[in-house]
Amino acid sequence: MRLEVVTIGDELLLGFTVDTNAAFLARTLSEIGAEIVRRSTVGDEPDRIAQAVREALDRTGAVITTGGLGPTADDRTRPAIAQLFGRALRMDDAVMARIAARFQRYGYASMPASNSVQAMVPEGATVLDNPNGSAPGLWIEDERGRWVAMLPGVPHEMRAMTTDVIVPILTKRYAINGAVVLSRTLRTTGIGESALAELLGEDGHDTVAGLPLAFLPGWEGVDLRITAHDLPRPQAALALERAEAKLRSHADRYVYGLDGANLAAVVLDLCRTRAWHIGTAESCTGGMLGERITAISGSSDVYVGGVVAYSDRVKTSELGVPAPLIREHGAVSEPVARAMATGIRSVLGTEIGIGITGIAGPTGGTPEKPVGTVWIATDVNGDVHATGRRYLGDREDVRRRSAQAALDQVRRSVSRVG
Ligand code: ATP
Ligand code: MG
Repeated sequence: MRLEVVTIGDELLLGFTVDTNAAFLARTLSEIGAEIVRRSTVGDEPDRIAQAVREALDRTGAVITTGGLGPTADDRTRPAIAQLFGRALRMDDAVMARIAARFQRYGYASMPASNSVQAMVPEGATVLDNPNGSAPGLWIEDERGRWVAMLPGVPHEMRAMTTDVIVPILTKRYAINGAVVLSRTLRTTGIGESALAELLGEDGHDTVAGLPLAFLPGWEGVDLRITAHDLPRPQAALALERAEAKLRSHADRYVYGLDGANLAAVVLDLCRTRAWHIGTAESCTGGMLGERITAISGSSDVYVGGVVAYSDRVKTSELGVPAPLIREHGAVSEPVARAMATGIRSVLGTEIGIGITGIAGPTGGTPEKPVGTVWIATDVNGDVHATGRRYLGDREDVRRRSAQAALDQVRRSVSRVG
């Protein structure tokens, strides 16, 4: 089935909000074999909304919109599309009651009057439940079977409704059981895009095991995405398995997970099964590594804490890094990184200590130690390992890449890969 997406909102056109709704819809619907053939974005202006939706209906007869269902004056989707279909808006008592109940549940004495517009439903339209927000979605259809599904703009509301409401409707309506588009991402880190391509050799040139392969570099590493197009689901799944195995046969030691995997969560799992604990000593990352780890729910089993040892004084007083060591080698050096890792391990009594020291820039570089120089040390039960690298990129980039590399170093030490 073919459909179009129209995302609505001035903030999207102005570039203040990135259109993640359209991307989510494309990914989710392609998985059930629905093809988004075009997407457009318009501002909150009723005529523009109506025009975009009319044109999309003329082409495919099937349109999903997001945004502009809220209670404020800039939310114009509902009347614009009602008018396009020549339907009047009527107050829907059941919707009204649900919105009012929601406000009561959240402890408001009364519902703001403006919210009542969210209970206005075009004649003949179906109300689509939105359990995460006040504005319900709407499904409107003409006598020729052309339809528009209106979803709220708030991303988490839109996502839940797409999965729970839109996908089941489309699957039933179009008896979609044939070809699907399935993707899988192998997340790698610690190797650059071109080195990875070289490692994959012929097997990773454009396609792998017959599937198109995309290299997606970012600060976390390089994601390898394989996609199976237009195959029945079981064949698509099998093709992904084969392609994944082929990629792993070359690059497995760089792969830390699939799809949405987070390296911090991977490391926590590895440590948890061994009942090992982590302490961090951070200089140039200023706590970013601790932030990455504590962002994962359940991290307290493994993560004990850390010291942001930014100044030399704190490196010495809190971590026991000998002052002469810093004087002799400089704060950004292999011996200091090692002493930080071992120091935090002994201060906190953990199995694992991590030390990071570097020059994030843009100032502070020297010819011997240019901006981007970072030393990372891991001490795993007394086995100390240190690596020095030089990152290109701005301050933010150097810091984020350092935290990621530190996590990967722990992953490698603990699981003893490469
Ligand atoms: P509300 O009831 O909250 O007003 P709404 O349906 O009117 O919902 P909008 O007002 O258009 O939705 O957007 C609500 C929020 O969702 C805004 O913060 C907006 O930036 C964000 N948003 C809207 N459309 C998109 C989109 N296509 N991608 C990402 N974020 C979006
Ligand atoms: Mg709004």
